[in-house]
Amino acid sequence: MKKTIWLWVLALMMVLAIPATAEEVTEIRTVQELQAVANNPEGSYILMEDLDMTGIDWKPIDFYGSLDGNGHAILNLELSQPGDTTAKSCDGNSILYESWYVGLFGILKEAEVRDLKLINVRGLVETDNSCFLAGLAGYCEASTITGCTVTGNLELRAHDRMFGVGGIAGYGSGHVRDCTVDVTLICTDTDQTRRDEQFMGGILATGFMDIENCTVTIDGYSSEYGYAHNGGLVGMLMRHPLGDWTCNLQGNSVIGKITFFEVNSDRRAYCKGLVGEFMTSYRTESDNTVDFVNNEQFVYDAEIRPEMCQEPEYEQTVVESDCTTYGHTVYTCTSCGYRYTDDYQLLNHMVTEWTLKEAPTTEKEGLSVGYCSCGLEFTRTEEKLEPIPTEAPTMAPEMEPAPIQPAPAEPEVPVEKTNLLLPAVIGGIVVLILLLLIFGRKKKGGKYLRK
Ligand SMILES: [Zn+2]
Ligand SMILES: [Zn+2]
Repeated sequence: MKKTIWLWVLALMMVLAIPATAEEVTEIRTVQELQAVANNPEGSYILMEDLDMTGIDWKPIDFYGSLDGNGHAILNLELSQPGDTTAKSCDGNSILYESWYVGLFGILKEAEVRDLKLINVRGLVETDNSCFLAGLAGYCEASTITGCTVTGNLELRAHDRMFGVGGIAGYGSGHVRDCTVDVTLICTDTDQTRRDEQFMGGILATGFMDIENCTVTIDGYSSEYGYAHNGGLVGMLMRHPLGDWTCNLQGNSVIGKITFFEVNSDRRAYCKGLVGEFMTSYRTESDNTVDFVNNEQFVYDAEIRPEMCQEPEYEQTVVESDCTTYGHTVYTCTSCGYRYTDDYQLLNHMVTEWTLKEAPTTEKEGLSVGYCSCGLEFTRTEEKLEPIPTEAPTMAPEMEPAPIQPAPAEPEVPVEKTNLLLPAVIGGIVVLILLLLIFGRKKKGGKYLRK
């Protein structure tokens, strides 16, 4: 008997424990829901729709949870401001800087991001602070990024000691696997008087990361009056103070070019297809392919930028969306031929025939199902039916509101009631006493008077 009670108690405890431990995954379907991640940055999320961020000046989120992009895309993310939190970055001489970070995430710490596409990220950040800009995470610490895509244009204008631009991450540590990057990166030192440390990498500006099976297409532009560190994958790979594992660079493919100058009496001018400068021997490298141009310049009178003419004039060609292509506008300079794409559009599936699955009623919406020619299934909600009027329209909205006469009378009603109630109660008591007296006399000698 005792045993069975304990078994029941145990079962009850287990049932109660399940909701507390089971991981709740929050679905994201709107831009507002994506912004709301900031309110619970340790949560687990899954993206359920492609999102167009046009017109949103994004505030980078500090994130410590997990985000499953679910193969969906965030289009036209605009980055111009850092997140709320600074974190220390470290240069090759182990000097620490309090830096600011810009990306979809400002700080990404012990987090996981997978299967997310950032299509046409547009970053333009100008700052007097130490700062890192990247598509996914300005700062990345002990986080894992898998199966993500970043395409777009990221430009940082800075001058304070240590700064840089990366396709996936700015500064930090962690693991990046199976990612695809196709970016134009621009990093400009806006102060010619001080020698800074500048970093640029297709995956990571600087830090210590495992980078495996990634495909990078990079078009980089860097102007630096100090020390430049440019790499197709990583600007500078260093271990301190980021990790105590051996970092693995494996199976990556880099195609691209970095055009830059380094004005410095003490020139190093690091620029290589995989890693600009290695500061660590704790690394393994295998199966990486590189098709990269180190396009160093020796004319320093103008910033290095992708536009090749002083006053570009752009001709626009619109490419419409379909089932698999995000529509966009191609801007081509009529003078120099430089071109870029912008203004990406959500995918456009066409459903020509809808089949009603659940008929709408006056109580609830209905549901229809349809198929695009690509085979994707779509659902559409059907509006509730209008209720059929059963009687002559009562209290129709066009009726004149009744005069408010009864209103002052209303408060009197309870007063009247109490007025009546009091005499009634008193009367009742009197009748009861009389009855008792009469009844009591009749039963003289009865139990009431017996002692
Ligand atoms: Zn031009
Ligand atoms: Zn389709």
